Amino acid sequence: AHVKVLRSLGPEGRTLPLQGHVGFDSLPDQLVNKCVNLGFDMNILCVGETGIGKSTLMDCLFKANFDDTVHSHKSPGVEISEHIYNLKEGNVKLRLAIVDSVGYGDQINKENSFKPLVDFIDEQFENYLQEELKIKRDLVTFHDSRVHVCLYFLVPTGHSIRSLDLVTMKALDKKCNIIPIIAKSDTVSKSELDTFKANIMEELRDNDVEIYTFPTDDETVAEVNKDMNEMMPFAVVGSREDVKVGETTVRGREYPWGVVEIENEQHCDFVKLREMLIRTNMEDLREVTHRKHYELYRRGKLKQMGITDDGAHPVSLQETYEQKRAEHLEELQRIENEMRQNFVNKVREKDLELKRNEKELAAKYEGLRKENNEEKKRLDEERKKLDDDLAALKKKREDLERANAEHANGQNTK
Ligand code: GDP
Repeated sequence: AHVKVLRSLGPEGRTLPLQGHVGFDSLPDQLVNKCVNLGFDMNILCVGETGIGKSTLMDCLFKANFDDTVHSHKSPGVEISEHIYNLKEGNVKLRLAIVDSVGYGDQINKENSFKPLVDFIDEQFENYLQEELKIKRDLVTFHDSRVHVCLYFLVPTGHSIRSLDLVTMKALDKKCNIIPIIAKSDTVSKSELDTFKANIMEELRDNDVEIYTFPTDDETVAEVNKDMNEMMPFAVVGSREDVKVGETTVRGREYPWGVVEIENEQHCDFVKLREMLIRTNMEDLREVTHRKHYELYRRGKLKQMGITDDGAHPVSLQETYEQKRAEHLEELQRIENEMRQNFVNKVREKDLELKRNEKELAAKYEGLRKENNEEKKRLDEERKKLDDDLAALKKKREDLERANAEHANGQNTK
């Protein structure tokens, strides 16, 4: 109670003037130094069909030449390929992972195209959670592989979003920050682009697809972020070529009728995307991933493990463990009983079958025996008849012989 009195000095505490320089004004510098030394992790997931310009755009965003193997359109399923690069600008180190959805949208049956993406994101959350749950955890130097932003490349059809894209975005929107972008926007005319953008936003709203919005709570960036939110989705153009415009060389695409400069804001929104993604909101993307998406995953996972703290009786880890163990043993017992019962049933069935077979065999044998007896009787009778016939014939022959002999004797006496 005593301490409480001392501490209840109004909601803000007391403001005391210091009598000299103490030095805690260097706290922000200490923070910055620590972060800079450790470096930062940033993981970008690029989703869009093969050839839509994902790798080209990544090269442009970071002014680098990342992996540029051209992927075929014939992959049997969606594969995740992850490349990690260590970048350095000034004295700031960035460990950048570019995750590509190879083969996305290339199959005839696209039903489960988003599954490998969801699985990948969950796997990264799981890795982080496992690290957190370790007794000797080390989250400071742990390389965070969670997807901080998903750049969703929309096909520049000029009218609306394809259902595949809606389904995928819906599946991802609770798991990561989605920033939809219109790819290869040099193929859509300026007037079409405005309606296209409006249609996209409307369809996302109608289907309750939640996309990332740039934060407007920090007043230093609130204004610009608010404006940029209204310009979503950004229509971008990518290129790996430098072309000459007048005296200067710029990154762009050259066409017979002119040059599209990717860094010219009159030509496309590439610069806006880069500003928003890298210069202004990278930290917010990382923070939202941790605070919102990871938290949701973590909560779900812990609940699955039976750990809650919202009920009337908070359950301890030990109790949960015991309970889960009991459940597990019960389940094992149940399975064992089921197997035993199955075995007994099988044996009984086989037994019945054998008995049935035996009976059938006996009946068959009896039938055959009867048939055999009858046949024998018939044959006996036939033999007897033949014997009788034979005796009769014999007798007849003897009679005949005797008659012949008598006849011959008669002749001789004459
Ligand atoms: P990925 O398979 O999605 O990584 O696609 P790539 O980045 O390999 O690009 C495929 C092809 O599209 C390449 O020939 C690029 O030059 C071309 N391309 C990339 N970005 C654009 C763009 O903004 N506009 C046009 N017209 N073509 C582009």
